[in-house]
Amino acid sequence: MKIEEKIYDVIIVGGGISGAALFYEICHYTNLGSVALLEKYGQLAELNSNATANSQTIHCGDIETNYTLEKAAKVKQTAKMVEKYCLQYGYEDEIMFKHQKMAIGIGYKECRFMLNRYKEFKELYPYLEVYDKEALAQIEPAIIFDKNGNGRDEEIVGVGCKDEYSTVNFKALTDTFIKNAKLNDDIDSDVFLNTQAEDINKKDDYYEIVCKNNKIYKAKMIIVNAGPHSLYLAHKLGYGLEYGQLPVAGSFYKSNKRILKGKVYMVQNPKLPFAALHGDPDVTLDDNTRFGPTALMLPKLERYHGNSTITDFFKTLRLDAKIMKIFSSLLSDSQIRDYVLRNFIFELPYFGKKAFLKDARKIVPSLCEDDIEYAKGFGGVRGQILDKIKGKLVLGEASIDTGNGLIFNMTPSPGATSCLGNAKRDVIKICEYLNKNFDIEKFENDLQERG
Ligand SMILES: Cc1cc2nc3c(=O)[nH]c(=O)nc-3n(C[C@H](O)[C@H](O)[C@H](O)COP(=O)(O)OP(=O)(O)OC[C@H]3O[C@@H](n4cnc5c(N)ncnc54)[C@H](O)[C@@H]3O)c2cc1C
Repeated sequence: MKIEEKIYDVIIVGGGISGAALFYEICHYTNLGSVALLEKYGQLAELNSNATANSQTIHCGDIETNYTLEKAAKVKQTAKMVEKYCLQYGYEDEIMFKHQKMAIGIGYKECRFMLNRYKEFKELYPYLEVYDKEALAQIEPAIIFDKNGNGRDEEIVGVGCKDEYSTVNFKALTDTFIKNAKLNDDIDSDVFLNTQAEDINKKDDYYEIVCKNNKIYKAKMIIVNAGPHSLYLAHKLGYGLEYGQLPVAGSFYKSNKRILKGKVYMVQNPKLPFAALHGDPDVTLDDNTRFGPTALMLPKLERYHGNSTITDFFKTLRLDAKIMKIFSSLLSDSQIRDYVLRNFIFELPYFGKKAFLKDARKIVPSLCEDDIEYAKGFGGVRGQILDKIKGKLVLGEASIDTGNGLIFNMTPSPGATSCLGNAKRDVIKICEYLNKNFDIEKFENDLQERG
């Protein structure tokens, strides 16, 4: 083992977008002496923050029909941080893009829902517009016409906008956080790739991180932003034992043409735990349309890296009677059972595409088998928390702050959008713990929306 002598103020474990955003904020808005980031793979954002792993959407709450007004107001603030950061560095049309976006309601009930939601949300999002069938035929014709050119029979309403930033290549954004963090050389900052943290040991006034490459790094404080592996590491140290983790993979189907001009989301069934299927222009596919994501229960913490994380899955699931009770309560609902089964079928060769097509046609009625193919190598894993005390599956993010210099962040979704907001929360905690300063005024000037 090679023991590094230097004791960093903070070490961040995990070089996805959450770790990189925190690294950036520490370098730009604090007076810490040193920070290091350890990443398991040879490049940053290899897993869920990769542009091919997620939907590339800035989730600001305007078209996410599952968000309450209160939640929308919160995510809007953090989403604006991403936008302001990109504008600050001039990343428009390079990393951040304006695609038109909308949520559509189909049929009487969903249309009323969309119109009522519009009334409730228009003050928070004054730019939102209502599109009737005629307007949609102009703006997003693929959602109106079938393959014979006939319009939909059902009532349809869209609520959305045409001139807002909606799309980000989160992998490219991650890389910029590290590059721009280095612009401030007052702080000693290091990034170590191919460095997998395996264990964390408490010493008198610092921690030792033992890595798989036989190196030991030291830090006064450690923030673990390791995606689904955050809980794995927390459990290893005896924290977060009240949580189990259910990995829910999301896959996509892609097209080799621009079927949709912008992002089209659907009204979410409130009973289902994940966002409804949507169609988006994919910035890695020259804006050709990508449909998804699916929601597949998968016994792995990482996709496309062999079976090396199957054991980690079982360890973080912490299967016991309480977890079984959560599963049985979820599966007692026939809609959820049907949903789980359908998402499993979507992965199958031949049958998968046929089943997926049926759902995707709700967005694009003319879609046919030749238009789409399973997007191999795309998609990621959302590590959903199973709360044994509350006896339920927790949607969204979770954070375990041990109070003694260790924080573990679980960021299934929309963690890429909220990266700078989550980092702000942690920077405040870091500065309190290490008795350092957070330049809140500079932060607010640079990254927060006024008013
Ligand atoms: C299908 C899908 C669609 C999504 N769509 C959106 C979207 O449209 N908009 C949005 O905002 N969010 C979306 N999300 C969520 C978003 O992708 C994640 O919230 C976000 O990428 C999480 O970033 P992270 O840095 O916390 O984790 P990750 O990106 O998973 O990064 C964790 C990093 O930690 C590293 N690591 C793991 N273990 C160790 C270790 N022991 N030592 C060192 N390094 C380690 C990994 O290699 C990885 O680089 C989506 C997610 C999925 C799966």
